[in-house]
Amino acid sequence: MKIYNTLTNKKEEFVPVENGKVKMYVCGPTVYNYFHIGNARPLIFFDVVKKYFEYIGNEVILVRNITDLDDKLINRSLEENIPVSVVAEKYTKAFFDDCKALDITPADHHPKATEYINDMINLIKELEEKEFAYEVNGDVYFSVSNSKDYGKLSGKKLEDLQAGARVEANKQKKHPADFTLWKKAKQGEPKWTSPWGEGRPGWHTECVVMSRKLLGGTFDIHGGGIDLVFPHHENEIAQAKASNNQKLANYWMHNGYLNIEGEKMSKSLDNFFTARDILKKYDPEAIRFFFLSKHYRSPIDFNENIIIESSQAVKNFYNTLKSADYLNIKDKEFEYSEVHQQHKNSFISAMNDDFNTAKAISVLFDITKAYNKTKDSAFIHLLIELGNVLGFFTNMEEKLSNSLNDVSGELVELLISYRNRFKKEKNWEMADKIRNDLKEMGITLKDTPEGTDWNIEK
Ligand SMILES: [Zn+2]
Repeated sequence: MKIYNTLTNKKEEFVPVENGKVKMYVCGPTVYNYFHIGNARPLIFFDVVKKYFEYIGNEVILVRNITDLDDKLINRSLEENIPVSVVAEKYTKAFFDDCKALDITPADHHPKATEYINDMINLIKELEEKEFAYEVNGDVYFSVSNSKDYGKLSGKKLEDLQAGARVEANKQKKHPADFTLWKKAKQGEPKWTSPWGEGRPGWHTECVVMSRKLLGGTFDIHGGGIDLVFPHHENEIAQAKASNNQKLANYWMHNGYLNIEGEKMSKSLDNFFTARDILKKYDPEAIRFFFLSKHYRSPIDFNENIIIESSQAVKNFYNTLKSADYLNIKDKEFEYSEVHQQHKNSFISAMNDDFNTAKAISVLFDITKAYNKTKDSAFIHLLIELGNVLGFFTNMEEKLSNSLNDVSGELVELLISYRNRFKKEKNWEMADKIRNDLKEMGITLKDTPEGTDWNIEK
């Protein structure tokens, strides 16, 4: 299988350090707010990477860290007037809740930065002894000038970084690209005792320490969003190399940006959508489909129309599964023939080519078409098997048993159309009455841009 490696700028044959085992570290959230839809991309993508490696017979260890110590958390604690630890706790919980809502399988380890402070201090001490770090007034910096390959991952040159530095750059640093390993504590900030006085480690040190601690010397894949290539990942590589002259990871994988209506998402553009806001309107499988229908390295444009199309595509899969009466055939025996195997091979070769999920999804469409033509239920089993690898169709019992028999379902749809009519006529009393009466019968309505969905409460 081939993986595009940011470190070499090319697709390379994937060879794990240990045969049959894949060790991955993906930079996790800084827990100071609800994560936005752009952050959902690496979560969903690397979830699929893990699932696929497992599908083809590997044992996978995935680490996704929690950065619970950072300037952003400190600022949020001042804003909300609550301790940093409470900020961290609140948004860590929110992170796990939102991941669950997005149907992302938890990583094998979720190390928190604050639990590894001693190891971080030890690494900084080691870097200082090896003359890759220097202390100025209680702050400790990494000296990039001493680091031979600095800039290899991001393709940046030290001279250019020097030239591009702003005039008001930190005067304590020997080189403008030198980065903070240890930060002296200001009044009221969280702090730990160290050889350089009270303070806290920098973000770039956190990830080196936690990844090595949990995955060993050199592990297989380090991943994250493309915005992390510089300086974060570049700085991780520099520290690892300086400390033991070992590679931190063999393959560096980065997913592309998410644009909102053509513009890069940012808070200032007022296009800051949290994942939880979007989940109020759209089904998690539609969001997953939206991301996976593009190659992970391409930028992706988020707009309402594409999400509506994604919802429709997912609905079509479910219509096929319903028409195939999946719940009744799921335990029946079946056999894949050559034609099924061909579809499966197409799926595997798409995924083996640097995780081309867009192509893999098109195979799911082909399988659906083949089923609709032949009514051969082995296609349905194949659709579920391969869909599961991409994280679809994980909750079939609930999804499919939710529908009443056809006539009752049509009656609910009829009532919804009356309710829409009343809403148009601004007859809120009747519109609400229909909603409430249905609710009493255990049927809840959910208004979405594509219309009203209904569900039977358990
Ligand atoms: Zn990181």
